[in-house]
Amino acid sequence: MALIVQKYGGTSVGDIDKIRAVAEKVSTIVKAGNKVIVVVSAMSGETNRLVKLAENFSDSKGWALDMLLSTGEQVTISLLSMALREIACSATPLCGWQVPIKTDDSYGKARIENIEIQKLVSLTESGVIPVVAGFQGVDDSGVVTTLGRGGSDTTAVALAAAMNADECQIYTDVDGVYTTDPRIVPEARRLDCLTYEEMLEMASLGAKVLQIRAVEFASKYKVKLRVLSSFEDGDGTRITDEDNKMEKAIISGVALNKNEAQVMVVGVPDRPGIANEILGPVAQKNIEVDMIVQNSGANGTTDFTFTVPRADYEETLEILRPLAKKMDASRVEGDDKIVKISVIGVGMRSHAGIASRMFASLAKENINIKMISTSEIKISVVVEERYSELGVRALHAEFGLEST
Ligand code: ADP
Ligand code: ASP
Ligand code: MG
Repeated sequence: MALIVQKYGGTSVGDIDKIRAVAEKVSTIVKAGNKVIVVVSAMSGETNRLVKLAENFSDSKGWALDMLLSTGEQVTISLLSMALREIACSATPLCGWQVPIKTDDSYGKARIENIEIQKLVSLTESGVIPVVAGFQGVDDSGVVTTLGRGGSDTTAVALAAAMNADECQIYTDVDGVYTTDPRIVPEARRLDCLTYEEMLEMASLGAKVLQIRAVEFASKYKVKLRVLSSFEDGDGTRITDEDNKMEKAIISGVALNKNEAQVMVVGVPDRPGIANEILGPVAQKNIEVDMIVQNSGANGTTDFTFTVPRADYEETLEILRPLAKKMDASRVEGDDKIVKISVIGVGMRSHAGIASRMFASLAKENINIKMISTSEIKISVVVEERYSELGVRALHAEFGLEST
């Protein structure tokens, strides 16, 4: 008998028939003698609909927004529990606060701090299926929080870690993790397995098939993770810490991130401490800075460029404008029509020349590179947004990732 955490994403619970199909899938696993904890997302499109409603108001951030967004998942846990009961499976719907899943109070991007497992243990021990709302938790003052878009993945992996589950299965609308987003490159190939490290890069760099924090959790607590299709049978993609180098290509995937914006402080007097003076106030607002480039300009000044999440773009500019004046910088510039394209692979560690192949391939398409960053297993470039798809396709082909 195994304990399995299964997470069903928005499309998988997108209508009543699909919710019934999920109930059947869960019931099959339970009838085979396993214990299951189910995590669900809101019905597809629902979270976006709620975000739009909130946008009608000028003060639409913080706890009130989290309270609103959390309702999407409250609907699906209730409906799925009904569907399970209809086919004679005992199920109990649980909101985040009922588990409870304790988080900090950074609304909209709360971090899970602790999960109390007693209730889940006693439910599963007595043959009841807990149906847990993804994407939400509760802070110390009892206020409902949400974990950031795509956060139900993190709920599932965190529950699997806390419960020491045998596997965490992420059911979605693709049958695994692909070499790149199959919606952009139809020739993309499904990967049988990936290391946590590679999946972490893929997720951080824009492959939204798994939320970044979910992969971080899985890697930290060695949760066996699998991405599968809700709609067809198959083995999906396993994500583990095994590194089957023998079978591996040098590059395992190409990722596209459309969620960043570039900001630049131009003509900053070049003296010790400026990086901290610029980035300190940004970090204080809980804005995550990604790529950073500093180049020395003329006559003792420097240009300081970095990227932030697009959602934080305006706020970052507002922080920087008065700061730039104070620092005697010439001006603040920004561009939110940029994307980041990355190639990822653990094989890069032992192979030189990947960067030059990447740059040559982009140059051949006349794509100008605005920023570059590298790590041991990835190379990322920032380019204009209009080159997103062309860039991804070119690199996918350059590194021979198409299905054969
Ligand atoms: P869910 O609602 O089930 O959480 P998501 O929409 O969040 O599903 O994630 C699945 C989507 O991720 C796919 O439909 C696909 O378009 C996209 N995606 C992006 N990159 C990849 C990739 N490398 N492999 C598979 N899917 C990817
Ligand atoms: N419903 C949330 C979202 O759309 C969480 C999730 O689906 O994982 O972002
Ligand atoms: Mg998702």
